[in-house]
Amino acid sequence: MFVDSHCHLNFDELVKDLPQQLADMQAAQVSHALCVAVNLPEYPSVLALAEAHANLFASVGVHPDYEDTPEPSVELLVREAAHPRVIAIGETGLDYYRLEGRSIADMEWQRERFRTHIRAARETGLPLIIHTRSASEDTLAIMREERAVETGGVMHCFTESAAVADAAMAEGFYISFSGIVTFKKATELQDVARHVPLERMLIETDSPYLAPVPHRGKLNRPAWVRHVGEFIAELKGVSVEEVAEVTTANFFRLFAKARAA
Ligand SMILES: [Zn+2]
Ligand SMILES: [Zn+2]
Repeated sequence: MFVDSHCHLNFDELVKDLPQQLADMQAAQVSHALCVAVNLPEYPSVLALAEAHANLFASVGVHPDYEDTPEPSVELLVREAAHPRVIAIGETGLDYYRLEGRSIADMEWQRERFRTHIRAARETGLPLIIHTRSASEDTLAIMREERAVETGGVMHCFTESAAVADAAMAEGFYISFSGIVTFKKATELQDVARHVPLERMLIETDSPYLAPVPHRGKLNRPAWVRHVGEFIAELKGVSVEEVAEVTTANFFRLFAKARAA
């Protein structure tokens, strides 16, 4: 059985076919999926999925790409995270990819928001789901300053170097690979996936984005995490069953609340 450690199943294009999505997961032996919140207005739709389906879980948080959106406080995140179906804080982190004319100094609001999430995670003991893009140095610096090591978490949709992966693992974080690793030109990332021990690895779709080969360009879905797992198995020269077993065990070790939820 596989677990999709990061999807956005509440997005319109996926949730409108929810029964089909769930049936496809079952057919592909994808037993569970973590539905990740990106902002507070849409968070109730994430939680509703996790409340209605025993194999879907929720997180609470505000993605760094959402700028004109209600800002979360530590208190609010802690309060929402008390819900039995909420197993993680995020997604949060830093994204300097689309600066749109601004400088990194102008992105202090992202760094403040990221600190808020880490503080909430430490208060709740829940792991963090961290998004980092074109910002790995600041991401790691803030993780260290705010002692993210106390809760650990996952570097989701990982696209950074082996050195960044090592630094994140040293802070107690797992490294999650998405469909990007299956792309033909992603040879550097494939080397990183060879480098990261299976015991520290998660797999995800980040659906509806980033459909893996052989579905590249199509609307991604949680069932297709299986293709990520199959690709990792080939890269590492291990069986698909081993990848499924170890990454699933990793998921339930990291998101321990999911075992009771
Ligand atoms: Zn993300
Ligand atoms: Zn995401």
